[in-house]
Amino acid sequence: MSARIKILSESVINRIAAGEVIERPVSVVKELVENSIDAQASSVNVEIENGGRKLIRVRDNGTGMSHDDAFLALERHATSKLRSETDLVGIATMGFRGEALASIASISRLKLLTRDESDTAGTEVVIEGGVLRKSERVGMGIGTAVEVRNLFFNVPVRRKFLKGSGVEAAHIQELLIKLALAFPTVGFTYSEDGRAKIDAPAVRSTFERIHTLYSKDVRENLVAVDHNVGDARLQGYVARPPYARSNMRSVLTFVNGRSVRDRLVNAAVTRAFSNLMERGRYPLAILFVELPPSLVDVNVHPQKAEVRFVSPVQISQLILDGIHQALMGAPFNPPSGPVEPFFPRPPLTPLARHLQGEREPLDTAPQIPHQEHPQVDPAAVHVTPPTNEGGGKFSSLGIVGRLPNSFLVLHSDSELVILDHHAAHERLIFDELMRTERDASRPACQDLLIPKILQYSALEARALAAHLDLLQDAGFRIEEFGEREFAVKGVPEWLGNSDVEGLFSQLVEVMLNTGLRGDPTRFREEILKSMACQASVKETMTMQVEEIRTLLKDLDRSGSPEVCPHGRPLAVRFPFSEIRRKMGRR
Ligand code: ADP
Ligand code: MG
Repeated sequence: MSARIKILSESVINRIAAGEVIERPVSVVKELVENSIDAQASSVNVEIENGGRKLIRVRDNGTGMSHDDAFLALERHATSKLRSETDLVGIATMGFRGEALASIASISRLKLLTRDESDTAGTEVVIEGGVLRKSERVGMGIGTAVEVRNLFFNVPVRRKFLKGSGVEAAHIQELLIKLALAFPTVGFTYSEDGRAKIDAPAVRSTFERIHTLYSKDVRENLVAVDHNVGDARLQGYVARPPYARSNMRSVLTFVNGRSVRDRLVNAAVTRAFSNLMERGRYPLAILFVELPPSLVDVNVHPQKAEVRFVSPVQISQLILDGIHQALMGAPFNPPSGPVEPFFPRPPLTPLARHLQGEREPLDTAPQIPHQEHPQVDPAAVHVTPPTNEGGGKFSSLGIVGRLPNSFLVLHSDSELVILDHHAAHERLIFDELMRTERDASRPACQDLLIPKILQYSALEARALAAHLDLLQDAGFRIEEFGEREFAVKGVPEWLGNSDVEGLFSQLVEVMLNTGLRGDPTRFREEILKSMACQASVKETMTMQVEEIRTLLKDLDRSGSPEVCPHGRPLAVRFPFSEIRRKMGRR
């Protein structure tokens, strides 16, 4: 009988490792640029083509490698940065696992060109899918160039889940901005398909770097942070609260020069601003935590985005106090300029419009006196009795009132029903969206009198641009308008007067976060869920009796399960018999 257990070949091991370290083109750029920084380069040049699938080229003027080292560097677990286990405590370089180059070479065609000062000529090595294709001596200056072509050519699954080249490129640009902030003394250039995107010459300070990378508007509203707690130091800049952004991406945090996305750090930043900003708004912050290497473990995650602090409480305190101190000394400027009206008349819920059978464009409509409709007073008792008309499960219910925290209180002859009208409305909109998608029909679109202009970061803008067709299918009229701006010219009817900006920032997050691993159908569903959630009646809204009636009728008609798209129940029921029993009556 032959043995069934075999030792995996080196090339298979490398490909498995590559799966962990190299998730998408930006992972390659990260590894290569970090290597350049570790090699003390003062100038790093990054070029990509087709979102990095076709080509990623990183050139530096660092120490370079000798002929022998050039070959060693491409072996797995070959590193010049870690000699023994004890070195693992107190890592000061960006890389240390010694697997990046070998991994990348196993899933692409990698060309390494390098020369160090001990050599008179450089070394060129070409490896394709982990197999050595070429090696020769070449004339070149001191430094290193790595060229990665046809990434994932032999990993079809990865290739399939890559997003459009615009999105991949945007991730790369965002990464380079973070690295440029962390290493101001290194000059960076970056180009996509031959077009220059970043040109940040070497400077002395992060502040000067911010000058190159951010707009004047942001720059002028930054406040410096500098605070110590014990051995730990927090430095950086935060924008005054009015310069809030709509997601956490504007918070850039670094620990010992490494860009991190750490829950503890993010929570502390959010908390520091919690009383200063509306919910759902996030600060713009660029923060550097410096602490002795022995107090932080960076060896937690293969992509090294998370860290583990030896004393997390100290770090939270450092961030919280540091930001507070900085902001206390900063005068608050309210944002200038008038707030642009979204709809040129009083708000109407989608249900109210539905009720009134109103379908004409908004700009011709007369003012509709909102207040004249009877409203459900939270304190009111028994506004309408149960009806037998229609006989539907929901539409036959009597309306008792509305609880202050938004639930509707209804009843039949035999039970008390608490209805979460937010969830109910969400369900209806979601069903409608799913239906139009199935029918390949497009929901009716209402033109906006004044187009709404939305601004995004480069990364967000690209995510959005890549999904415009999806938004159009959902009934939006939206167009690209300048490099990072979009003009929303029409919104689907079902959206009512919901906050378009809020909806879009939520959508952009979904686009950026669920893309890679999710399957396309699920991704679309996620988007529809966010839309339904945002468009449904806001909890604080006063509902009119007719609106409630319409909602109940719609629920009867929908025939959907009694759960919202996120899985929460729409209604809970308390049979009178149970209430009587609890009251001690029979
Ligand atoms: P790690 O960075 O974890 O050591 P890598 O696979 O990224 O592992 O690189 C392996 C080795 O190759 C590094 O330890 C370093 O000695 C050498 N190396 C890689 N890139 C460069 C570069 N741009 N300049 C000089 N040496 C490099
Ligand atoms: Mg490395």
